[in-house]
Amino acid sequence: MRYLDAAATTPVRREVLEAMWPYLTGEFGNPSSHHRVGEGPARGLAQARRTVADCLGARAGEITFTSGGTEADNLAVKGIALARPRGRRVVTSAVEHPAVLEACAYLERVHGFEVVRVGVDGDGVVDLDELRAVVDERTALVSVMLANNEIGTVQPVAQVAAIAHEAGALVHTDAVQALGALPVSPAALGVDALSLSGHKAGAPKGSGVLWTRAGVAVEPLVHGGGQERGRRSGTENVAGAVAMAAAMRLLEGEGRLGSDGAVPPWSAGLAAARDAFVRAVLAGTDGARLTGHATERLPGHASFCFPGTAGETVLLTLEQDHQVICSSGSACAAGSSDPSPVLLALGISPEVAETAVRFTAGGPGDFEGVADAVVEAVRQVGSLRN
Ligand code: PLP
Repeated sequence: MRYLDAAATTPVRREVLEAMWPYLTGEFGNPSSHHRVGEGPARGLAQARRTVADCLGARAGEITFTSGGTEADNLAVKGIALARPRGRRVVTSAVEHPAVLEACAYLERVHGFEVVRVGVDGDGVVDLDELRAVVDERTALVSVMLANNEIGTVQPVAQVAAIAHEAGALVHTDAVQALGALPVSPAALGVDALSLSGHKAGAPKGSGVLWTRAGVAVEPLVHGGGQERGRRSGTENVAGAVAMAAAMRLLEGEGRLGSDGAVPPWSAGLAAARDAFVRAVLAGTDGARLTGHATERLPGHASFCFPGTAGETVLLTLEQDHQVICSSGSACAAGSSDPSPVLLALGISPEVAETAVRFTAGGPGDFEGVADAVVEAVRQVGSLRN
């Protein structure tokens, strides 16, 4: 089996499992307990916080552990907007993950915020002129993702942050898909909040982080015992936090974090393999198009539309006849038969959007031999040139 759905999730890495194991067994205590059984977990949690902060070039007090990317996005968007004394407007892009878009919709519906969803060009890049025009003194928060899960496009987040700050707005970025592939340095990006999810990068599902710049107020969404400095009540998932830290340290050691703002060298090799894959697929199929930006995209990400096919048919053929596992777009929109709003935002017609197939690799070797299978699968479902 060839697994090319790393954007949906990744397996837990052995080293990560080994790091978290003690906190699921011997060190099972509650980190808030005042007796000695709680001491080890409390130390483990504090160390995990320091490690994650260090990997991001941040301070431990700026880290909030969450149950993943969705919660981190919700806490950032709702928490920051609700805590800000100024502005009743939130600005985001048309291609955000539902975790951001639905959090914005909630602010609009329940709290009367005005939400502006800025458009993107044909490559999925946010329109900076439109952004500039709508971000003003009424704007509490701007949320634009670092890299898109469906089309791989990397957004000019540093420019977004500069525009937003000029108007006095705070900036959040969803960096869930970027972890391990692109620099995720909050300082280099110039943002005020950044979300990460563990399961996209070798830690378990249900682990995540929200980084917020010191001094940024966040209204908690979950109330209770006041854990995570009051930002996220509930007994901490110590093993999950330790896993997140272990995964990030591994990525850092492999030169995949680029936390100083530099592009990780690891990404270049993956991008080269991806480019060869894309060239071979486009050369072998008729009318296929790459969706998203050709170069400003996640290194392991290749997404296509194959007009004349149905995306799901290509997907099934790849799985059944070629043992290639990929996806028709975003796993998060699974179950939905509507064409992807992200592809529609790019100006792609609903008919063509329904032919979308996404291949996302965890390493350069993952693409080997897959182009032939894709070309053959597309031919099988009836749209090949020869
Ligand atoms: N943001 C992006 C860009 C994602 O791709 C995902 C997951 O696919 C999420 C947020 C949600 O993360 P989680 O699955 O950890 O809730």
